[in-house]
Amino acid sequence: MRWLLLAAMMLAGCAELGLGDGTSISVGKPSNGYLRDGVRLPDRGDGWVTREVWRTRNNRFGTDELVDLLTSVAHRMRGQVRDVKLVVADLSGKGGGERVAFHRSHQTGRDVDLLYYMRDANGQPFEPDAMHVFDPTAHAVDGSGLAVDVPRTWALVKELITAPEAPVQWVFMYEPIAQRLLEHAQRTGEPDAVIARARKTLKQPGDSARHDDHLHVRIYCSAADRAYGCVDIGPMELLAEREAEPSQLAVLAAALAHAPGAPTSTPGATGALVAGSAAVGGAAVGGALWLPLRRWR
Ligand SMILES: [Zn+2]
Repeated sequence: MRWLLLAAMMLAGCAELGLGDGTSISVGKPSNGYLRDGVRLPDRGDGWVTREVWRTRNNRFGTDELVDLLTSVAHRMRGQVRDVKLVVADLSGKGGGERVAFHRSHQTGRDVDLLYYMRDANGQPFEPDAMHVFDPTAHAVDGSGLAVDVPRTWALVKELITAPEAPVQWVFMYEPIAQRLLEHAQRTGEPDAVIARARKTLKQPGDSARHDDHLHVRIYCSAADRAYGCVDIGPMELLAEREAEPSQLAVLAAALAHAPGAPTSTPGATGALVAGSAAVGGAAVGGALWLPLRRWR
């Protein structure tokens, strides 16, 4: 085992020297750390866009996992929401750390601000132009007539917390809006397991902005980054839950076994979340044929 230890030490040494392991590395805590070899999220893409104010700040860097999560979730949201795009505000600055202006966290490439989906005064879909502060009834306080689109924002949260690309630890959000999302989820018969996970993930932070004008997503450290000093703050429960899920490969096999014309069925692959993941596996069958195994494992 000594060679293994030696190899690990050399790798850690390389990271210290800036050579890295060929992927992004999130180092330290979200509010005291930095980002090495981060990826820049383009200003627009399939299903998402940013606005001038955030483009100019250039806090657009994240870990591989975060950027993968954002582009994938935006792409999947586009299948449900065709008339407006997801508006992505700040990630981290290049290199992260305290250079990130306007934020206390956002230092390690694992945080991103997203705008709520909105509707205008006539109830029509409205692609967010800027952050608007919402009151407890989810209506803008600035007289613009805008309101949070609860069903679409719930759909976004659901995509985030079930995404295979990265495990989401927190979706920071104004409590009254979170309550509305959860009520909507219950009313529309979303699976109990998804609602339970949403309850654990949605949180109005006690020590910072109450997030009444945007939502803030934080992902867990990847296992590889943890070895380089990435530190998660707060409960690890959701990560353990995600790691206990069947692997993408098992889900794909189960989906294939349950496909029409399949010779036999595979026992054991039941449960709401499994069914949700099977849809992802099914999409892979018809689409890209192969989804890479979750990188954070
Ligand atoms: Zn934020």
